[in-house]
Amino acid sequence: MNDVIESKNLSYFHSFRLPTEAKQVIVLDDLSQLNSIPGQAYILGAGSNTLFLENVEFPILHVCLKGIEIHESLDFWRVDVAAGENWHELVCKLHAQGIFGFENLALIPGTVGAAPVQNIGAYGREVSDFIESVEVWDRQNQSRYTLTNDACDFSYRDSIFKQNPSRWLITSVRFNIPKKWRAEVSYGELKSLGLPVTPADILEKVIAIRTAKLPDPAIVPNAGSFFKNPLVEPSQLKQLIVRYPEMPHFTSPSGKIKLAAGWMIDYLRLKGYSIGGAGVHDKQALVLINNGSATGNDVLNLARYIQDKVNVEFGVNLEAEVRLIGGQGMISL
Ligand SMILES: Cc1cc2nc3c(=O)[nH]c(=O)nc-3n(C[C@H](O)[C@H](O)[C@H](O)COP(=O)(O)OP(=O)(O)OC[C@H]3O[C@@H](n4cnc5c(N)ncnc54)[C@H](O)[C@@H]3O)c2cc1C
Repeated sequence: MNDVIESKNLSYFHSFRLPTEAKQVIVLDDLSQLNSIPGQAYILGAGSNTLFLENVEFPILHVCLKGIEIHESLDFWRVDVAAGENWHELVCKLHAQGIFGFENLALIPGTVGAAPVQNIGAYGREVSDFIESVEVWDRQNQSRYTLTNDACDFSYRDSIFKQNPSRWLITSVRFNIPKKWRAEVSYGELKSLGLPVTPADILEKVIAIRTAKLPDPAIVPNAGSFFKNPLVEPSQLKQLIVRYPEMPHFTSPSGKIKLAAGWMIDYLRLKGYSIGGAGVHDKQALVLINNGSATGNDVLNLARYIQDKVNVEFGVNLEAEVRLIGGQGMISL
């Protein structure tokens, strides 16, 4: 391994900034290191979807592989990007070169390698819409593979990488971006843009909305949406809508109904509510924040309190969208 940092303060390695430590942080910046990755290492990109709740006993593998290659064909751009590249910088770089499509996904923090893991999405687009294949290191078989889009089993905030986190290490992603650009402005505040619209209009609008609505992790430590929007059966929606006629809901491709977790938390008047140093953001109910002194226990207690309240009121189970990491590994709420 090239770079091993002993006893590392993890608050610098995740955007929720809980004051925890790892015994070892290993920097992965060359593919020749793949053979010597410790089996129990936790793979980390930029840490914007990960909360280290306690000091961890296992090594952290910080993915810093770099490189972007762009190839042009008649109808498509093919873009190969190493896992450690920054997602938003990639969006801006491609946009500046006239390669359009990623505008709706602007300003999502994190690395390119983490983007397929939870199939990042925003404003009606998901990254899987553009992924041709993913290069992986299979930690189980100690081999490199190319997984096609179908093999990644993408769905809402999900993929095989999320389902089996100890197996796959993503080393790079191949995007296939049609030259024929198609605007996606059917979602939320993008509707106000109307048509015709340019990629630059969408990029600018998405950046403006996100800057206004979401706390900047560099100022207010957070990990974006803490909970997933729950999916329920149409029959459950029917009952809910009788009691809560104004409840927002969207039909998902699977036929299930996606509810807005933030709306439910807001309905329960939990915006601004806090336990210890962990709180619900006062403008964005789906975002939990570290007020500066949060401990892992504060976060867990707050998240479980919200989960209980939502369950009692709506009969709906909220699942964490973020990865919660305890001393021995991943934990669930
Ligand atoms: C303010 C804010 C806003 C956000 N908005 C959105 C949004 O609109 N939409 C959305 O989808 N997400 C959003 N997120 C969540 C986050 O940006 C994404 O999940 C992002 O992909 C995380 O990237 P990361 O590099 O920081 O991942 P990390 O937190 O480092 O890792 C996340 C998971 O991916 C795994 N992982 C990371 N790199 C690799 C790799 N190379 N190979 C295999 N596994 C890997 C990790 O083990 C972990 O399980 C937001 C977060 C914040 C803080």
